Amino acid sequence: MGIRSVKRRCGFCSGGGKVWDDIIGGFAQCTICEGTKFVSIPSNWIKCPDCKGNGKIDFGAVVTYSTCNRCKGTGWCEPPMSYK
Ligand SMILES: [Zn+2]
Ligand SMILES: [Zn+2]
Repeated sequence: MGIRSVKRRCGFCSGGGKVWDDIIGGFAQCTICEGTKFVSIPSNWIKCPDCKGNGKIDFGAVVTYSTCNRCKGTGWCEPPMSYK
């Protein structure tokens, strides 16, 4: 069973290719997928449990979010060892 690379919807921009940028006060190209709306990941990767596939951790405060460390913002991560 080979693991191939597949394209999945980018979690950070939810497949929109753009994310809201508070600094410029408008939508900016998603830095995770570079506006392509998809990320290439190994086919056995799972939706990131830390950010629930959003690619970002919501602090619910002034700073709206930061990139999820576990999935690096893609919303997808390597499955845990117990997961087959
Ligand atoms: Zn994106
Ligand atoms: Zn994540």
